[in-house]
Order: sequence, then structure tokens, then C-alpha cells
Amino acid sequence: MKQLADDVYQIACMPFSSVNAYLAGGVLFDAGTRQSEGTILKALRGKTVTAHALTHAHPDHQGASRAVCEALDLPLWCGTADADAMETGDFDIPPNPVSRFVDAVWTGPPHPVARRLREGDEVGGFTAIETPGHTAGHVAYWRERDRTLIVGDVVRNMSFATLLPGLREPPAVFTTDLAQNRASARKLLGLDPALVLFGHGRPIRDTARFNAFISSLAA
Ligand SMILES: [Zn+2]
Repeated sequence: MKQLADDVYQIACMPFSSVNAYLAGGVLFDAGTRQSEGTILKALRGKTVTAHALTHAHPDHQGASRAVCEALDLPLWCGTADADAMETGDFDIPPNPVSRFVDAVWTGPPHPVARRLREGDEVGGFTAIETPGHTAGHVAYWRERDRTLIVGDVVRNMSFATLLPGLREPPAVFTTDLAQNRASARKLLGLDPALVLFGHGRPIRDTARFNAFISSLAA
């Protein structure tokens, strides 16, 4: 587990930072795939963890959620509009062969959501920012004091096709509403994050590059 900022750690659930979870402010943000249970529990050993929050309820973010919540007795929190998906396993993913494959291989079991997050809610010292589009209930998390942004899948720093680094929009095959996701990305423009933590890809500290990428997206 790699420390990136005060009380912020990256848990690489798959090689090359292709699927990430984070421990920040005592909260586990995201939980990789169903296969990530061992990696996450090992990373959290000896750490204080008080809750588990999702950026969104997709199979590569909620895969080990139930296993980790049960092992560590954690409450699960996620965006209001994704809570039903988390509790039923009926995810907000466009139906296509790629998403069906991912769903079959990575999806974790449903689990009750103890807290349905809204804009402005406080989560482990971060503030929830509603960023719908990739899913209806996608949430990013922002910590003003050191300008740390957990951006989830609003933007990724890895090509879905080649796994090479580079800022990208989330793939259309997994995104409910790309135009709405772009609007959510633009909502992050004024933040000027000093550290951006992605669901997919390595963290970046280049504020200008992050802002330029978002500005380059057509409305
Ligand atoms: Zn994802």
C-alpha cells in the first residue's frame, strides 16, 4: 500500500494501477473486483478503518465490498442513486457483450447501504460531490485542506484498450450517459486539485494537465 498524502493510501487491486481502491481518512474508498478481497484485507491490516464508501456501484469498484464490510464490520456508503444497484446487484451499465463479461467475472454480491450520500456530505474528511453520468449515482470526494480529489471514473488515467497512461473519458460501453459525465467533469474544473486519485490509472499531481483535459471535452 502506497502513501500518497497525509492519511491517504493507494491500494492497487490489479497490476499497473488498472483498478484502484484508496484508504483515506479512515474510509476505504472502493473495493476493486470480487477477486480483490485478499489484497484489500491485507493492505488494511493494522490500519484504522471506520467505513467503506463507493465512488459508484460497478463490478470493478464494489467487487469486494460485502466481503470487506463483513470481515471488518464496516458500514457501506454510496451515492443515493447507486444505492439500489448496490443492494440488488442490478447495475447501471449499458447492456453489451463487454459489460456482460465484466459483470460475470468481477461483480461482487449485493450488500445493504447504510448511508445514501448526497452533495456536500462529509466522508472521512472529504466532501461528497455528485458527479452523475458514468452511473446515475457516481460521487467524487474532495478534501479542500490539501486539495486531494478522489475522482472515481469521471476521468481515468489509463487507456481502456492499451492500459497505457493518459487522461481519458470512461469507456462508452460502461457509461450510462457520456454527456452527463462530461458535465460532471466540468463541475470539477474550479477545484484545481493538487492530487487526483483515479479508479483506473496512476495518481497525478499536475493540476494544469487535469484542467486542460477537462476543458478539451466538448460540451
Ligand atoms: Zn471503474
